[in-house]
Amino acid sequence: MNFKQQCVGLNDGHIMPILGYGTAQNPEVPKSKILESTKIAIDIGFRHIDSAYVYQNEKETGQAIRRKIADGVVKREDIFLTTKLWSTFHRPELVKVCLQRSLENFQLDYVDLYIIHLPMSIKPSEKTYTKNENGKILFETVDLCATWEAMEKCKDAGLVKSIGVSNFNRRLLEMILNKPGLKYKPVCNQVECHPYLNQSKLLDFCKSKDIVLVAYGALGSQRPKIWVDQNTSILLDDPVLGSMAKKYKQTPALIARCFQLQCVVVVLAKSFTENRIKENMQVFEFQLTSENIKVLNGLNKNI
Ligand code: NAP
Repeated sequence: MNFKQQCVGLNDGHIMPILGYGTAQNPEVPKSKILESTKIAIDIGFRHIDSAYVYQNEKETGQAIRRKIADGVVKREDIFLTTKLWSTFHRPELVKVCLQRSLENFQLDYVDLYIIHLPMSIKPSEKTYTKNENGKILFETVDLCATWEAMEKCKDAGLVKSIGVSNFNRRLLEMILNKPGLKYKPVCNQVECHPYLNQSKLLDFCKSKDIVLVAYGALGSQRPKIWVDQNTSILLDDPVLGSMAKKYKQTPALIARCFQLQCVVVVLAKSFTENRIKENMQVFEFQLTSENIKVLNGLNKNI
């Protein structure tokens, strides 16, 4: 399989593989799991790996990549590695600090893509979420245009190949795009996107600005009780998705991922289970008709 053929061009001239392996990890899952599953993902053919400082497993992710390079399975330039600037590092003077910690964790010289993880800024501290004595997160106001200028400097320093954002709405994207003296446009906006939240308006806007929308949550929203109404429908149980899966002789998960690949272009797939990591790679083995894509778009609930 020629993986270069399954890439999308970015607005800065680099390319991004359209299927990414996600590494977000629940704290209960042992770190050894991410090491093993990332190695399996690379063996199976994933070349785009999506990490983040806040996942606290960059060391194991980097170890897996370096092991596969040492084994001769891949070269560094075959891997497209993303990591993300955490919210306690939004102040411009802290951007490079966070990136350098990530590079140290990975034991690598550069990442392919560095993105602002969230537009919400949290007061700096050594904790992931700086909180007051009542347990409330201490947010702060940081000018994200200044954060972006610090991101541009990381690119100029050769520490990252491309820079982008995540969880930005149109207004925030426009704020960056209209910034006086903008040197580099964001190459991507990584957001939750699936048939129940198809992001059609944001997708059209991103396309019009040559910004790639990268979809996470392709199998439906995560359902933590603290912020998701537990009565909302579960995407993978949707009868329309189910009958389409039967028709294509695929699983509902693959239909959902294929929908994203054909509509959005780049999709992330996280699994620590070997057979599901393999299954997710099979998304390239079939194509949905435009009629079926229309049907799946019709499931949108904007939730
Ligand atoms: P996902 O790929 O939608 O997968 C969600 C869960 O479904 C996984 O925990 C996995 O559990 C299971 N699964 C995976 N493949 C499956 C399949 N073929 N059939 C059935 N179940 C399957 O996960 P996600 O939430 O979108 O995360 C993907 C990646 O996106 C993350 O790892 C992270 O890199 C990124 N992300 C970014 C943000 C952001 O704010 N930028 C937010 C969330 C996620 P098992 O491990 O048990 O297989």
